[in-house]
Amino acid sequence: MDIRKVGVVGAGQMGNGIAHVFALAGYDVIVSDISQDALDRAVNVIDGNLTRQVSREKITEEARQGALDRISTTLKLADVGPSDLIIEAATERETVKNAIFDDLLPHLKPNTILTSNTSSISITRLASRTDRPEKFMGFHFMNPVPIMQLVELIRGIATDDETYSACLGVVENLGKTAASAEDFPAFIVNRILMPMINEAVYTLYEGVGNVSSIDSAMKLGTNHPMGPLELADFIGLDTCLAIMNVLHDGLADTKYRPCPLLTKYVEAGWLGRKTQRGFYDYRVDPPKPTR
Ligand code: NAD
Repeated sequence: MDIRKVGVVGAGQMGNGIAHVFALAGYDVIVSDISQDALDRAVNVIDGNLTRQVSREKITEEARQGALDRISTTLKLADVGPSDLIIEAATERETVKNAIFDDLLPHLKPNTILTSNTSSISITRLASRTDRPEKFMGFHFMNPVPIMQLVELIRGIATDDETYSACLGVVENLGKTAASAEDFPAFIVNRILMPMINEAVYTLYEGVGNVSSIDSAMKLGTNHPMGPLELADFIGLDTCLAIMNVLHDGLADTKYRPCPLLTKYVEAGWLGRKTQRGFYDYRVDPPKPTR
């Protein structure tokens, strides 16, 4: 399969990173979102990140300009349809993703590969609503996309070998490394990472430690580059809660119940870095713990 044109649905923190790495690797990229603000912000973020790569001599100025020239944006989801590969990277909510795939279907080429960057939702279930479950799979990038080496590739029950091989080839073209995961809730990385983050929130909720002591303990005591609460803010607390709910519902085990304090932060709209406040308050420098 010849993949040249890539569509990205959702221009949030993952969508902009995905567009960045594809454009830099020479693919033509079209990004759609329901918000013009999100599209404008994404192009600014990509420009800023490419410029930083030039200043660190990781890429040339020509590569930066070439990548920017290969990215276009649209508010019309239909414009993304005629791509060779589509990566859905919208909000982590199954109803949102289902609606996107429903709307995309009439505009696809017969051999367009459909993928989702979902952190946790069943690929088999998302695929089953489309007209091409054999050409559907999970294409799960890590955050921040331009820096993180891993891509989890998740086959749904119906995904065919040709689709898997095409996606594996794309990951290699991007200079990244694939890990293959079976389609069970939250796959590999988040099956292990999210219960740890959730446990850190329980540790805070029960008063075992405060935000600073929990993050310092895990950084200095286990050699993690970021503490779990700092990492949760970086991922987005709404995304963390959504993943815990998928684990809880999908595996029906109370060990995955989301911490009520995580729910409270999300209900407050304190979603982490993207809203300037989560377990830390980012409106001040250095960020101040909120508990
Ligand atoms: P985000 O909140 O930063 O961005 C989501 C974007 O989707 C927003 O710009 C929103 O306007 C857009 N959107 C919502 N509905 C849409 C629609 N119908 N059509 C087009 N765009 C729509 O979220 P994010 O962190 O970028 O996460 C996106 C996806 O990536 C989720 O599935 C998430 O689980 C997954 N993911 C996130 C991380 C992470 O660390 N944040 C890591 C890996 C995967």
